[in-house]
Amino acid sequence: MDQEARLVTVDHAWSGRWSGRSLLRLDAHGVVFAGSADAHDADTLAGAELPHVPGTVLAPFTDSHVHLGLIDAAQLSVGGISRVVDLGWDPAIAQGWLGRSGRDGWPEVTIAGGLITAPGGYPSRAGWAPPRASLAVGGLRASTRLRRAARVVERQHALGASIVKVALNSDVGPVLDDATLGAVVDAAHGLDLLVVAHVQGVGQAARAADAGVNRLAHTPFSERLDDDLIARLAASTTWVSTLDIHGHGLGGVAHETAVDNLSRFRAAGGRVLYGTDLGNGDLPLGVNERELRAMGRAGFGLAGLLDALAPDVAEPAGGARLPFTRVTWIADAPRASASSDERAAWLARATALTADELLAVALEEKTR
Ligand SMILES: [Zn+2]
Repeated sequence: MDQEARLVTVDHAWSGRWSGRSLLRLDAHGVVFAGSADAHDADTLAGAELPHVPGTVLAPFTDSHVHLGLIDAAQLSVGGISRVVDLGWDPAIAQGWLGRSGRDGWPEVTIAGGLITAPGGYPSRAGWAPPRASLAVGGLRASTRLRRAARVVERQHALGASIVKVALNSDVGPVLDDATLGAVVDAAHGLDLLVVAHVQGVGQAARAADAGVNRLAHTPFSERLDDDLIARLAASTTWVSTLDIHGHGLGGVAHETAVDNLSRFRAAGGRVLYGTDLGNGDLPLGVNERELRAMGRAGFGLAGLLDALAPDVAEPAGGARLPFTRVTWIADAPRASASSDERAAWLARATALTADELLAVALEEKTR
């Protein structure tokens, strides 16, 4: 993209809210949603016939739970994902990904670094995780454990983590005690870092709530959470959906439990982020139609799915809109009459495009 900004039109746009025929401003910094084309007078458009992008352009989609160490990150934009949150790998390797964020065809990357856990706890014996991904916080004395908890959080922060991950998986091994877990949360919050927890095993979701964890890496699937706990979690945590990790949406008790928990969490006002745990098993690279279908079964309509897919696009109050490195493009319009499954299929046709790539689509359309 040269220095000069280009305007293009698109049939439908969504960046927190819908508009019909809209203007997009493309320049070296990215794509800005510039509002409804009808709202601009003839002077602004100078009577020019602007290049036109057919279909729908939406704010960038985020997968809020991936493991870049297990997938080819450069494939994600073709599949419609512009941003990812990596929830656990060898911290030194994850740090290196920050330098590729938004470049070389990579999505924009946010990292957690390693997974903070008890000695011998998950994922230290899990096949998928490299040994250095597990950051064990041990020590015979409580004071030692608390000091080590703070230090391991500081190290993740120093290498560029913007979220800290803690593993609370009592199904496969020991978990941090309450005081150590509390020290992890305190240290993270002291550094303005969110805490995300892998919660697995009966009672672990309640422990996360008690400790002040901010986010759950998975919709809880080990037990049906009672309504009181759901209400507490809805007030204090966001959940990453990951419904399709259980037998790939083919059912099963864990899947049904998760759908039930998510549906009540949503009804209680809980905030949900789209996430797939990409790299865990055989999941499609990009927007996962099965994940969206399962979310549809948990009660998510199009507005709820978009809020989960594009969680950080709140319209600035009067301020200048920042350009997006990539935006989402779907070649046709959403159908108001679509069923839940049809909506999932429509969203799964997304690709993530840079300003240059979007302009190429518009110019191609012009010569057609
Ligand atoms: Zn994961």
